Amino acid sequence: MKNQSQYAVVGDPIAHSKSPLIHAQFAQQTGQNIAYDAFAITSENFNQFVNDFFNHGGAGLNITLPHKEVAFELASQNTSRATLAGAVNTLYVQAGRLCGENTDGPGLVRDLSVNNGIDLAGKSILMLGAGGAARGALAELVNASPAKLTLLNRTLAKAEAIKLAFRDVQEIHVSDYDNADQHESFDLIINATSLSLQGELPPLSANWVDGQTCCYDMMYDDSDTVFVRWAKQSGAALAVDGLGMLVEQAAESFAIWRGIRPETESVMRMIREGL
Ligand code: NDP
Repeated sequence: MKNQSQYAVVGDPIAHSKSPLIHAQFAQQTGQNIAYDAFAITSENFNQFVNDFFNHGGAGLNITLPHKEVAFELASQNTSRATLAGAVNTLYVQAGRLCGENTDGPGLVRDLSVNNGIDLAGKSILMLGAGGAARGALAELVNASPAKLTLLNRTLAKAEAIKLAFRDVQEIHVSDYDNADQHESFDLIINATSLSLQGELPPLSANWVDGQTCCYDMMYDDSDTVFVRWAKQSGAALAVDGLGMLVEQAAESFAIWRGIRPETESVMRMIREGL
């Protein structure tokens, strides 16, 4: 179609991605003339693909596993948030330069605060996992002025690296799962491990949950994820999965590219019904 702007999501694997569907809905809703494809690209071919895509007039890319860190390295200009995250999920060209942003954190925070009414200021937050998603989320969570951030990860060195990267922004208390029982309850617990994908849980403690605690699983599914089930059984005030984050991070990318923020509620409903 004439004057159609080209966008795509790049990952490996990519077949499961809901991004083309979400962006097609955003485009229809806002009357934007875009095409949005999905490409399975190996790590070996990633840099070449990105260069070719933009050299041939491509307007923007979403980047997913396992390329977010490489995309950060590839961009010649990253936002401060993307720099703190050390990972990029959105690429675009501005004044001839390849720019990188990370919208995972804003997507999460918007889902927590706007869609689920959770006020993060002054709260005690526990993050489980120290991979790319946790890092992206923390890069935005720090802007919401939480009172305390705690990060638990199987590999302590990765959690320590995040603590170091954030040292000028906010203190993060890090640990592995040993002695997890010693922590008292949190206002918000976010599962950013990839274990839900296999129907498994990281080591958890019932001590972490009281009647005020909200639990958030970055993973989503057609029925409750194993972490959402654990949260409900443990008496959490709220237990939410990551579908809202998925749609909200996409809306943030769309807004960067097109200068218009789409409405997300109907898209979340549509994706939920299609699961
Ligand atoms: P990574 O592979 O970068 O990180 C995985 C994390 O899970 C690491 O902290 C890893 O610990 C931990 N983990 C894996 N296996 C185990 C185990 N057996 N025991 C304890 N911890 C374990 O993945 P991402 O950070 O990119 O993604 C994490 C999750 O977030 C995924 O489920 C993904 O689908 C979801 N996600 C959702 C988004 C959304 O929009 N809803 C957006 C982005 C991600 P270790 O460091 O020790 O290996």
